[in-house]
Amino acid sequence: MRDYQMFINGVFRDASDGRTLESVHPWTGDAWARIPRGDRADADAAIGAAHAALRGPWRDLSASARGALLRKVGDLLARDAERLAEIEVNDNGKLLIEMQAQMRYLPEVYYYFAGLADKVEGSVPPIGRPGHFAYTRLEPVGVVAAITPWNSPLMLAASKIAPALAAGCTVVHKPSEHSSASALEVARLFDEAGFPPGVINVVTGLGNEVGDALVRDPRVARISFTGGTDSGKAVNQIAAARLARCDLELGGKSPNIVFADADLDAAASGVVSGIFAASGQSCLAGSRLLVQDSIHDAFLDRLLAIAAGAVVGDPMDSTTQIGPVTTEAQFAKVLDYIAIAKGEGARCVTGGERLDRPGWFVRPTIFADVTNAMRIAREEVFGPVLSVIRFRDEQDALRIANDSNFGLAAGVWTSDMGTAFRMSERLQAGTVWINNYRMLSVMMPFGGYKDSGTGRENGLEAIRANLETKSVFLNHSAAVANPFVMKL
Ligand code: NDP
Repeated sequence: MRDYQMFINGVFRDASDGRTLESVHPWTGDAWARIPRGDRADADAAIGAAHAALRGPWRDLSASARGALLRKVGDLLARDAERLAEIEVNDNGKLLIEMQAQMRYLPEVYYYFAGLADKVEGSVPPIGRPGHFAYTRLEPVGVVAAITPWNSPLMLAASKIAPALAAGCTVVHKPSEHSSASALEVARLFDEAGFPPGVINVVTGLGNEVGDALVRDPRVARISFTGGTDSGKAVNQIAAARLARCDLELGGKSPNIVFADADLDAAASGVVSGIFAASGQSCLAGSRLLVQDSIHDAFLDRLLAIAAGAVVGDPMDSTTQIGPVTTEAQFAKVLDYIAIAKGEGARCVTGGERLDRPGWFVRPTIFADVTNAMRIAREEVFGPVLSVIRFRDEQDALRIANDSNFGLAAGVWTSDMGTAFRMSERLQAGTVWINNYRMLSVMMPFGGYKDSGTGRENGLEAIRANLETKSVFLNHSAAVANPFVMKL
């Protein structure tokens, strides 16, 4: 067992009442780490430290120096990438090769926002008022609460922490109770890089205790949340009541749309990567497959061949293609949805059951004969379960794709550029992939339409989300204005 401590005001410490949580390997169910179970008092201490740090040495540091610190974190993450990848697998059971790829990408996120730190510029609008000069200042919003889930812990945290720090904010990070170890490892790297105390704090514990305390505290100016849609809506309501900024990256039921003229080998590979990679535990999972009528049966055969032959097992083994589901609750939820789909009349063509071995393994599952009205087509499963729906033509595909409460992502597979452009214009989704799926870049904004959330992470929009704009009017004339008339 490894023991971890929280990071508050530059000090590693236990929960104030000494309680702990256990982290377990999803492929055995065995505990491997003890994490402090912080409570409201710990959240309060972290918010206090972050609030004080806003007025401490952090405020006086130049933007370039802030960028240099973030760059140092990127270097340290690159140095420790292998070790961090293993820790992430210990907690979430995703494939080691997947987490290694994420850890190799992580420094890019910090380098990108490090580079932006000293490019945050106000403006000098030509207001045309003689004797007056006006300019805008962009200032950090204040303390940012970063609340993150278990599926890609460090990558999702980086998308919140790096832009907030680059903008000059301070941060309290609450990772998921199921995947806190890597966040506490990264806290050590922030410490090693030389961040002043209180600028970044990591408080571990439960969502309805620590998370809730962060969302309610008036000293927290902005909440950046990634997780389930129900939790996101609850967080948003509390934030709205006190007019705190709140950006939400939530669930999806993303369509992967295969036209008859597509390169079918590439499309099959893209569809598999969209739903079976990460055991489908990805907000951007392509969980609805829309296939054009004329190729429906042949395309399904291709998918079946890949899904039925996929190697399911130990995520640490480099030959494994599909790992376990991360938590016992998630495992039960996935099996429930499989039962619901069968009850709704969807035809299970492969999988549809747990694997007969310890750990939370679900066979890659494909349901055919799904209609878009079924729950299996409308609700987020967050598991390796694909729903296949037929369509006639482009209009039909668009109608089905957009008939969803969600709007996070969509994939389009076609060799016709006209179809590609029309679909990319009309799909209601924050990301559209044409002839690829699951590609991300820190330079490309990421977020959702509809119930998939509000705001955008990554790209220039991510740093702007952490800034207030102040307008300054400066009178350099000797004239005294009429006090009874507005100066327009
Ligand atoms: P949650 O949305 O409950 O958790 C995400 C984060 O929010 C965690 O850190 C959690 O803490 C915290 N949290 C939960 N409730 C609150 C609250 N009231 N106030 C503040 N913080 C809170 O996700 P789950 O892990 O429970 O998964 C539920 C479902 O959400 C999944 O089945 C899946 O459908 C979806 N999901 C979507 C994700 C995405 O990337 N869009 C990621 C993860 C899940 P803690 O874990 O400690 O309780």
